[in-house]
Parts: sequence; C-alpha cells; structure tokens
Amino acid sequence: MLPTENFLSWTRKNEWGTSSTSSEILSNGVKVEVWDSGVIAFTPEQANQRDLVLSSAVHGDETAPIEICDQLIEAIRAGELVPQCRVLFLFANPAAINVGRRFVEENMNRLFNGGHSQGEGLVNKERVRAKQIESYVAKFFDEAPTGERERLHYDLHTAIRDSKHEKFAVYPFTHGKPYKKRQLQLLHAMGVPVILLNDGPTTTFSYHSVKHHGADAFTVELGKVKPFGQNDMKSFAPTIKTLKALLTEKEPELAPFSPQDFSIFQVLRSINRTVEDFELNFSDSLANFTPFEEGELLARDGEKEYRAQCDGEAVIFPNAKVALGQRALLTVVSKPAESFDLV
Ligand code: ZN
Repeated sequence: MLPTENFLSWTRKNEWGTSSTSSEILSNGVKVEVWDSGVIAFTPEQANQRDLVLSSAVHGDETAPIEICDQLIEAIRAGELVPQCRVLFLFANPAAINVGRRFVEENMNRLFNGGHSQGEGLVNKERVRAKQIESYVAKFFDEAPTGERERLHYDLHTAIRDSKHEKFAVYPFTHGKPYKKRQLQLLHAMGVPVILLNDGPTTTFSYHSVKHHGADAFTVELGKVKPFGQNDMKSFAPTIKTLKALLTEKEPELAPFSPQDFSIFQVLRSINRTVEDFELNFSDSLANFTPFEEGELLARDGEKEYRAQCDGEAVIFPNAKVALGQRALLTVVSKPAESFDLV
C-alpha cells in the first residue's frame, strides 16, 4: 500500500529511508511506485519517449524546489495532472529538510559520480543515501522501454545568496560534445536564460546523470533560499508551466532559438581553501555573478593572493567556511552564445 498521506510528509517521517516499497495503479492508468522515502516514480500506461528525473532537496534548506515537486507529485497522485512520460521524483535529503539545513553531515552535491565512496568511504548517512539515489536513477533509466529515448534530469536548487542573475542553470561538462540548442530553449522556457558551462567532471548530481546515463541534465538555481511557505510561487510560474508541459506533452512548444536570449558564462577558475587562514576580500552577502576589475583582490589563502585576471571576472558560490581542500569560490567570464559549438 502506498502512503495515503502527502508524500513529502511521509518522506520526512522516514528521513533516512525505508526499505518498504509499494505501488498502485491510479484510475487513469498511471502506475505509482514508491521505491524509498523521497523516491516516487510514475509510469503512464502508454508512456511517450521521454524519461524525466526531477530532484530536489539535495540541499535540505532549499525549499522552493521541494514545494514545486510536492505540488507536482500530489497533483499526479490526485489525477489532476496526468503524465504522458515516465517521471522519477527524488527528495534527496529528507533529514536535512527536517533540520532546515543545507546538509546534516556532508554536502550531498559533492557525493555523486561515486564521490560517496571516495576518501573515507560510506562513513555517514548522506554518503549512503547518495549511493542509493544513484541506484534509483540507474533503475529508472534501465527500466525504460527500448528505442530512442529522451533522458532529462533537472536537479532543482535555490542559492544561499543573492545573485545578479536570479535564475541560472549549470550545464555540466559534456566531454567535448556540443551544447544543445533545444536544452537551452527548454531552460529559457523555464525562466532560466543564464547558463553556466562547467569545464570538467564534478561530483554533482546533474553531472552524474550526464556521465552515467547520457542524460541531458542540469543543476537549476531558481532564486534565493527562503523558509517553507515564504516562497513567492508566482516567480516560479514559468518553471512549473514548462515542467508540466514536459510531463503532459510529447513536444512542448518552444520559442525559436535566438542567441541573444541567453547569457552564457564559462568557468575561468576554481579557488580552493587550502589553509585555516583563508579570507574572501568581499562581504559575505556579495551577490553571485558580481564582476571584478582586473587586478582586484578576490581572496587570500594564507600567503597566496588571488586577483581578478581580467575585467568582468565574476564570482559565484563563494563560501570562505568550506572544509580545507574544498572550493571556496568559482570565477566565471561571460561569452556570447555564438562563440559556442551548438547543435
Ligand atoms: Zn543547492
């Protein structure tokens, strides 16, 4: 038997997972399967060519994506929204949701692509959970019907700090494959016209799906972190509308591709904290994508100074308090969309 209550509430009661799986078929023919707490798959009777993964709560305090997915899940369970594609929803870190924190012991978005078993191995529950989630994603893609499939994964986040660009997506490293116009168009339809191109393999969830499942996968930042109930859901309307279109339509209608619709940023460098004596040369509340002028001091890692290498070098995801050896900030530069290999 499926949990009869709200799926997110049930998930939060079983915060580190449950081995009991259950399934049922809705009156509209959609099969509902609960694989674990936070893991629910829907399969329509006549599934189309798309396999869609929607994940949230990789960071437990990022409430808006959790609320968006909760709405979609309950609408499908109630029969109000009838998916035409297979879809897997994942609430990645229910225990962190419960304590209202980014994570309990370890940042899960550093634990995918096998990161969970690196270093000291599966020593905490987040590492174990990341490994389980990888297995659920593999099961979902492996169980798809044969033939040409469209594999999509949106890992939904909100950022800790303000951003010069409220909504942006990280396009994971493609191993030299060209970027896809259609994927940019879908992100644009979601209200996400700013794209950050990653320049190498990472341990993020979205890169995991690219590398291991050949999916078109993105980390999507939807705005600033707010407590539950305080998110302005109107600001997510284009995102929700596009996700619903992907769920219910074979080919969602997209605006024609136009390079000037996008701001595309390339990673210039990653600056790691290697010593205790590390500081950022700007306020903690600096907005993501704030540009610096050539020569301006960005950070100091013990004796080593990091200065902007060019005008417009912009800072994202700064966090001076990361563990030693981890990334304290990333810097990026803007490039015109026309300068990339797009198909
Ligand atoms: Zn996040």
